[in-house]
Amino acid sequence: MVKVFLDGEFVDSEEAKVSVFDHGLLYGDGIFEGIRLYQGCVFKLEEHLERLECSAKAILLDLPWSRRQLSDWICQACRVNGLTDGYIRVVVTRGVGNLGLSPKTCIKPSLIIIADHLRLYPDEYYEKGLKIITGPTRRTSAAALSPGIKSLNYLNNIIAKMEADRLGYIEALMLNEQGYVAECTGDNVFVLRRGRLSTPPSHAGALKGITRRVVIEIAAELNVPLKEENLTRYDIWVSDECFLTGTAAEVVPVVEVDGRKIGSGKPGEVTGRFLAAFRSKVAKEGTFL
Ligand code: PMP
Repeated sequence: MVKVFLDGEFVDSEEAKVSVFDHGLLYGDGIFEGIRLYQGCVFKLEEHLERLECSAKAILLDLPWSRRQLSDWICQACRVNGLTDGYIRVVVTRGVGNLGLSPKTCIKPSLIIIADHLRLYPDEYYEKGLKIITGPTRRTSAAALSPGIKSLNYLNNIIAKMEADRLGYIEALMLNEQGYVAECTGDNVFVLRRGRLSTPPSHAGALKGITRRVVIEIAAELNVPLKEENLTRYDIWVSDECFLTGTAAEVVPVVEVDGRKIGSGKPGEVTGRFLAAFRSKVAKEGTFL
Protein backbone atom coordinates (compact mmCIF):
# COMPACT_ATOMS: atom_id res chain seq x y z
CA MET A 1 0.00 0.00 0.00
CA VAL A 2 1.23 3.49 -0.83
CA LYS A 3 2.44 5.51 2.13
CA VAL A 4 1.31 9.12 1.94
CA PHE A 5 2.99 11.99 3.72
CA LEU A 6 0.32 13.94 5.57
CA ASP A 7 1.12 16.80 7.92
CA GLY A 8 4.40 15.49 9.23
CA GLU A 9 3.95 11.72 9.11
CA PHE A 10 3.68 8.85 6.69
CA VAL A 11 0.32 7.09 6.76
CA ASP A 12 -1.23 4.28 4.70
CA SER A 13 -3.10 5.66 1.70
CA GLU A 14 -6.40 4.41 3.19
CA GLU A 15 -5.75 6.46 6.31
CA ALA A 16 -4.66 9.58 4.43
CA LYS A 17 -7.72 11.77 4.90
CA VAL A 18 -8.33 15.49 5.16
CA SER A 19 -11.03 17.34 7.09
CA VAL A 20 -14.28 18.33 5.40
CA PHE A 21 -13.53 21.80 6.80
CA ASP A 22 -10.24 22.09 4.90
CA HIS A 23 -10.51 25.13 2.65
CA GLY A 24 -8.67 23.19 -0.03
CA LEU A 25 -11.80 21.03 -0.28
CA LEU A 26 -14.38 23.72 0.47
CA TYR A 27 -13.02 26.34 -1.91
CA GLY A 28 -10.13 24.91 -3.88
CA ASP A 29 -8.00 27.18 -1.72
CA GLY A 30 -4.54 25.72 -2.13
CA ILE A 31 -1.70 24.99 -4.51
CA PHE A 32 0.12 21.97 -5.87
CA GLU A 33 3.00 20.60 -7.90
CA GLY A 34 3.37 17.52 -10.07
CA ILE A 35 6.97 16.26 -10.19
CA ARG A 36 8.69 13.33 -11.90
CA LEU A 37 11.13 10.84 -10.45
CA TYR A 38 13.42 9.31 -13.06
CA GLN A 39 15.95 6.58 -12.23
CA GLY A 40 16.21 7.59 -8.58
CA CYS A 41 16.50 11.30 -9.34
CA VAL A 42 13.82 13.93 -8.80
CA PHE A 43 13.72 16.01 -11.96
CA LYS A 44 13.89 19.81 -11.55
CA LEU A 45 13.04 19.62 -7.84
CA GLU A 46 14.38 23.10 -7.08
CA GLU A 47 12.34 24.61 -9.93
CA HIS A 48 9.16 22.89 -8.74
CA LEU A 49 9.74 24.07 -5.17
CA GLU A 50 10.43 27.58 -6.38
CA ARG A 51 7.15 27.57 -8.34
CA LEU A 52 5.34 26.22 -5.26
CA GLU A 53 6.81 29.07 -3.18
CA CYS A 54 5.71 31.60 -5.80
CA SER A 55 2.20 30.12 -5.93
CA ALA A 56 2.06 30.31 -2.12
CA LYS A 57 3.23 33.91 -2.11
CA ALA A 58 0.70 34.88 -4.76
CA ILE A 59 -2.21 33.45 -2.75
CA LEU A 60 -0.89 34.99 0.50
CA LEU A 61 -0.15 31.63 2.07
CA ASP A 62 2.90 31.46 4.32
CA LEU A 63 4.63 28.13 3.88
CA PRO A 64 5.77 27.11 7.35
CA TRP A 65 8.35 24.67 5.91
CA SER A 66 11.75 25.45 4.46
CA ARG A 67 12.64 24.41 0.93
CA ARG A 68 15.14 21.97 2.42
CA GLN A 69 12.47 20.40 4.60
CA LEU A 70 10.06 20.04 1.68
CA SER A 71 12.76 18.57 -0.50
CA ASP A 72 13.73 16.04 2.23
CA TRP A 73 10.12 14.94 2.69
CA ILE A 74 9.62 14.60 -1.07
CA CYS A 75 12.71 12.35 -1.34
CA GLN A 76 11.59 10.42 1.73
CA ALA A 77 8.14 9.84 0.18
CA CYS A 78 9.85 8.22 -2.82
CA ARG A 79 12.19 6.12 -0.69
CA VAL A 80 9.46 4.94 1.72
CA ASN A 81 7.50 3.67 -1.28
CA GLY A 82 10.54 2.00 -2.86
CA LEU A 83 10.26 4.07 -6.01
CA THR A 84 12.98 4.79 -8.54
CA ASP A 85 10.60 6.07 -11.22
CA GLY A 86 7.29 7.70 -10.59
CA TYR A 87 5.21 10.78 -10.09
CA ILE A 88 5.10 12.97 -7.01
CA ARG A 89 2.13 15.15 -6.13
CA VAL A 90 2.76 17.87 -3.56
CA VAL A 91 -0.40 19.58 -2.33
CA VAL A 92 -0.61 22.48 0.10
CA THR A 93 -4.11 23.37 1.26
CA ARG A 94 -5.10 26.44 3.24
CA GLY A 95 -6.00 24.07 6.07
CA VAL A 96 -8.94 23.63 8.39
CA GLY A 97 -11.15 26.66 9.07
CA ASN A 98 -14.79 27.57 9.42
CA LEU A 99 -17.32 27.77 6.58
CA GLY A 100 -16.53 31.37 5.66
CA LEU A 101 -14.47 32.22 2.60
CA SER A 102 -11.87 34.08 4.58
CA PRO A 103 -8.82 31.99 5.41
CA LYS A 104 -8.34 33.90 8.65
CA THR A 105 -9.71 30.94 10.63
CA CYS A 106 -7.31 28.53 8.94
CA ILE A 107 -4.53 28.29 11.47
CA LYS A 108 -2.10 26.11 9.57
CA PRO A 109 -1.81 24.85 6.02
CA SER A 110 -1.87 21.12 5.33
CA LEU A 111 0.87 19.38 3.38
CA ILE A 112 0.26 16.21 1.41
CA ILE A 113 2.93 14.37 -0.57
CA ILE A 114 1.91 11.39 -2.68
CA ALA A 115 4.64 9.49 -4.50
CA ASP A 116 3.39 6.69 -6.70
CA HIS A 117 3.92 4.89 -9.97
CA LEU A 118 2.93 6.97 -12.96
CA ARG A 119 0.47 5.65 -15.47
CA LEU A 120 2.64 6.54 -18.44
CA TYR A 121 1.04 7.84 -21.59
CA PRO A 122 0.84 4.99 -24.09
CA ASP A 123 3.74 4.79 -26.59
CA GLU A 124 1.16 5.21 -29.31
CA TYR A 125 0.77 8.90 -28.38
CA TYR A 126 4.45 9.48 -29.14
CA GLU A 127 4.57 7.26 -32.23
CA LYS A 128 1.38 8.45 -33.90
CA GLY A 129 0.83 11.85 -32.25
CA LEU A 130 -2.32 13.32 -30.74
CA LYS A 131 -5.39 14.65 -32.45
CA ILE A 132 -6.82 17.56 -30.46
CA ILE A 133 -9.57 20.15 -30.77
CA THR A 134 -10.19 23.68 -29.57
CA GLY A 135 -12.70 23.57 -26.74
CA PRO A 136 -15.55 26.08 -26.29
CA THR A 137 -14.55 26.87 -22.69
CA ARG A 138 -12.15 29.78 -22.47
CA ARG A 139 -9.17 29.82 -20.14
CA THR A 140 -9.78 31.73 -16.89
CA SER A 141 -8.71 35.29 -17.54
CA ALA A 142 -5.16 36.09 -16.44
CA ALA A 143 -6.66 39.26 -14.95
CA ALA A 144 -8.89 37.15 -12.70
CA LEU A 145 -6.43 34.49 -11.60
CA SER A 146 -2.79 34.55 -12.59
CA PRO A 147 -1.98 31.52 -14.75
CA GLY A 148 1.37 31.47 -12.94
CA ILE A 149 -0.38 30.15 -9.83
CA LYS A 150 -0.67 26.37 -9.88
CA SER A 151 -3.78 26.39 -7.76
CA LEU A 152 -6.29 23.75 -6.72
CA ASN A 153 -8.89 25.55 -8.88
CA TYR A 154 -8.88 23.31 -11.97
CA LEU A 155 -12.59 23.45 -12.77
CA ASN A 156 -11.95 25.56 -15.84
CA ASN A 157 -9.53 22.98 -17.25
CA ILE A 158 -11.69 20.05 -16.13
CA ILE A 159 -14.73 21.38 -18.01
CA ALA A 160 -12.61 21.84 -21.15
CA LYS A 161 -11.19 18.33 -20.75
CA MET A 162 -14.70 16.85 -20.37
CA GLU A 163 -15.92 18.69 -23.44
CA ALA A 164 -13.03 17.26 -25.46
CA ASP A 165 -13.56 13.81 -24.02
CA ARG A 166 -17.23 13.79 -25.01
CA LEU A 167 -16.21 14.43 -28.59
CA GLY A 168 -13.66 11.62 -28.44
CA TYR A 169 -10.49 13.69 -27.93
CA ILE A 170 -8.04 13.40 -25.07
CA GLU A 171 -6.86 17.01 -25.05
CA ALA A 172 -8.35 20.40 -25.84
CA LEU A 173 -6.65 23.58 -26.85
CA MET A 174 -7.90 26.43 -24.66
CA LEU A 175 -8.19 30.00 -25.91
CA ASN A 176 -8.11 33.03 -23.66
CA GLU A 177 -10.78 35.74 -23.54
CA GLN A 178 -9.15 37.56 -26.46
CA GLY A 179 -9.23 34.42 -28.57
CA TYR A 180 -5.49 33.78 -28.44
CA VAL A 181 -4.21 30.32 -27.64
CA ALA A 182 -3.40 29.89 -23.95
CA GLU A 183 -2.49 26.23 -23.45
CA CYS A 184 -4.11 22.82 -23.29
CA THR A 185 -6.04 21.59 -20.26
CA GLY A 186 -2.95 20.10 -18.62
CA ASP A 187 -0.06 20.92 -20.94
CA ASN A 188 1.69 23.84 -22.61
CA VAL A 189 1.68 24.13 -26.39
CA PHE A 190 4.43 24.84 -28.92
CA VAL A 191 4.33 25.23 -32.70
CA LEU A 192 7.09 25.17 -35.30
CA ARG A 193 6.72 27.24 -38.45
CA ARG A 194 9.51 27.68 -40.99
CA GLY A 195 12.10 26.47 -38.49
CA ARG A 196 10.98 28.83 -35.69
CA LEU A 197 9.34 27.69 -32.49
CA SER A 198 6.61 29.71 -30.77
CA THR A 199 4.71 29.28 -27.55
CA PRO A 200 2.12 31.53 -25.89
CA PRO A 201 3.49 33.84 -23.17
CA SER A 202 2.33 33.24 -19.61
CA HIS A 203 0.15 36.37 -19.69
CA ALA A 204 -1.88 34.80 -22.51
CA GLY A 205 -3.06 32.26 -19.92
CA ALA A 206 -0.27 29.67 -19.95
CA LEU A 207 1.07 28.07 -16.81
CA LYS A 208 4.81 28.65 -16.50
CA GLY A 209 5.43 24.97 -17.11
CA ILE A 210 8.66 23.44 -15.89
CA THR A 211 8.78 21.24 -19.02
CA ARG A 212 8.07 24.35 -21.10
CA ARG A 213 11.12 25.96 -19.51
CA VAL A 214 13.27 22.90 -20.26
CA VAL A 215 12.09 22.98 -23.88
CA ILE A 216 13.09 26.65 -24.07
CA GLU A 217 16.57 25.62 -22.82
CA ILE A 218 16.73 22.80 -25.38
CA ALA A 219 15.79 25.23 -28.17
CA ALA A 220 18.86 27.32 -27.27
CA GLU A 221 21.05 24.21 -27.17
CA LEU A 222 19.76 22.98 -30.56
CA ASN A 223 19.93 26.47 -32.08
CA VAL A 224 16.23 26.53 -32.87
CA PRO A 225 14.94 30.11 -32.66
CA LEU A 226 12.08 30.44 -30.17
CA LYS A 227 9.68 33.23 -29.37
CA GLU A 228 7.00 33.62 -26.73
CA GLU A 229 4.18 35.28 -28.66
CA ASN A 230 0.43 35.41 -29.02
CA LEU A 231 -0.83 32.63 -31.26
CA THR A 232 -4.20 32.25 -32.93
CA ARG A 233 -5.91 28.99 -33.89
CA TYR A 234 -4.87 29.81 -37.45
CA ASP A 235 -1.20 29.87 -36.40
CA ILE A 236 -1.64 26.39 -34.97
CA TRP A 237 -3.52 25.06 -38.03
CA VAL A 238 -0.85 26.23 -40.48
CA SER A 239 2.13 25.19 -38.37
CA ASP A 240 4.61 22.61 -39.66
CA GLU A 241 4.81 20.88 -36.31
CA CYS A 242 3.03 21.13 -32.99
CA PHE A 243 3.73 19.52 -29.63
CA LEU A 244 2.54 19.68 -26.03
CA THR A 245 4.73 19.72 -22.93
CA GLY A 246 4.06 18.72 -19.36
CA THR A 247 5.53 16.82 -16.45
CA ALA A 248 3.45 13.72 -17.20
CA ALA A 249 3.31 14.11 -20.99
CA GLU A 250 6.97 15.16 -21.44
CA VAL A 251 7.05 16.26 -25.11
CA VAL A 252 4.18 14.78 -27.09
CA PRO A 253 3.55 15.40 -30.80
CA VAL A 254 0.24 16.76 -32.09
CA VAL A 255 -0.71 15.72 -35.63
CA GLU A 256 -4.19 17.17 -36.02
CA VAL A 257 -5.94 20.23 -34.61
CA ASP A 258 -9.64 20.93 -35.26
CA GLY A 259 -9.63 18.48 -38.17
CA ARG A 260 -6.63 20.22 -39.81
CA LYS A 261 -3.62 18.02 -40.39
CA ILE A 262 -0.45 19.50 -38.89
CA GLY A 263 2.46 19.31 -41.35
CA SER A 264 2.49 15.86 -42.91
CA GLY A 265 0.02 14.55 -40.33
CA LYS A 266 2.83 12.56 -38.71
CA PRO A 267 4.92 13.49 -35.63
CA GLY A 268 7.42 16.12 -36.73
CA GLU A 269 11.16 15.61 -37.04
CA VAL A 270 12.03 18.61 -34.83
CA THR A 271 9.51 17.44 -32.24
CA GLY A 272 11.32 14.10 -32.21
CA ARG A 273 14.64 15.86 -31.60
CA PHE A 274 13.14 17.80 -28.69
CA LEU A 275 11.66 14.65 -27.14
CA ALA A 276 15.01 12.86 -27.46
CA ALA A 277 16.87 15.84 -25.95
CA PHE A 278 14.32 16.03 -23.12
CA ARG A 279 14.65 12.32 -22.35
CA SER A 280 18.42 12.56 -22.34
CA LYS A 281 18.23 15.45 -19.85
CA VAL A 282 15.97 13.56 -17.45
CA ALA A 283 18.38 10.65 -17.48
CA LYS A 284 21.32 12.91 -16.54
CA GLU A 285 19.92 15.63 -14.31
CA GLY A 286 18.07 15.63 -11.03
CA THR A 287 18.23 15.52 -7.25
CA PHE A 288 19.34 12.08 -6.04
CA LEU A 289 17.08 10.48 -3.46
N1 PMP B 1 -0.60 23.80 -18.06
C1 PMP B 1 -1.41 23.28 -17.13
C2 PMP B 1 -2.78 23.83 -16.97
C3 PMP B 1 -0.94 22.24 -16.30
O1 PMP B 1 -1.74 21.73 -15.35
C4 PMP B 1 0.37 21.75 -16.47
C5 PMP B 1 0.89 20.66 -15.58
N2 PMP B 1 0.28 19.43 -15.86
C6 PMP B 1 1.16 22.29 -17.50
C7 PMP B 1 0.65 23.35 -18.24
C8 PMP B 1 2.56 21.81 -17.72
O2 PMP B 1 3.40 22.23 -16.67
P1 PMP B 1 4.65 21.38 -16.17
O3 PMP B 1 5.55 21.23 -17.34
O4 PMP B 1 5.23 22.18 -15.08
O5 PMP B 1 4.11 20.05 -15.73
